[in-house]
Amino acid sequence: MRRKFVAGNWKMNGSHPANAELLAGIQAARPFGCDVAVCVPYPYLSETAVALAGSEVRWGAQDVSVHANGAYTGEVSAGMLAEFGCRYVIVGHSERRQYHGETDQQVADKAKAALAKGLTPIVCVGETLAEREAEQTEAVVKRQLSVVIHALGPCAGEMVVAYEPVWAIGTGKVATPEQAQAVHALMRAQLKAATPRADAMQLLYGGSMKPDNAAALMSQPDIDGGLIGGASLKAADFVAICRAA
Ligand code: PGA
Repeated sequence: MRRKFVAGNWKMNGSHPANAELLAGIQAARPFGCDVAVCVPYPYLSETAVALAGSEVRWGAQDVSVHANGAYTGEVSAGMLAEFGCRYVIVGHSERRQYHGETDQQVADKAKAALAKGLTPIVCVGETLAEREAEQTEAVVKRQLSVVIHALGPCAGEMVVAYEPVWAIGTGKVATPEQAQAVHALMRAQLKAATPRADAMQLLYGGSMKPDNAAALMSQPDIDGGLIGGASLKAADFVAICRAA
């Protein structure tokens, strides 16, 4: 049995008072029967680490450099994230691919850089609406995942994968449990061909997951949790999704 995993992706949201309230609300709802994490903006890692010290709730970042150190203005390395006690880092979120031109290869290199420092990358894949309508979903997800699998080699089984159809992110248009499960099953099959750990890997769904649709999505056989954007900013909603897991 795989343990369910619910990860909050705060994106570029937060403030000292809002973070304190949100983290306290999550803490107050413990214990959870699943793995729980929050992925916060870099400047808030320190206060998050303090607020969650000693708790089973884990934390992480939303991006990482492929480089270890050096003249890369504005970048943050995996080693630095590890110093802040990060357990996870999201890589290849569609907003990074779309607004920052991240390629499949860069995403794969970031996942590799994260693993090299002991962080678990949450690797995001997913098709756009145009790609889905052109019946390219399977091909797109397979391509995105295969580049990461190839880059990680024997470590591929150590990552978390999040299937996030771009058309469902922040739109309120959630994939049906059947649509999401179909893609998750394809990903699991692809991973099985690459790593003996495929059956133990946590494959998350992301894209407008809310308290009212979380249980149906996460009850699918290959959906092992969620990557939560909007609903991770309100403690009551995030906690409700964790409870549904
Ligand atoms: P959403 O975002 O839950 O707001 O749709 C999910 C994500 O982008 O990770």
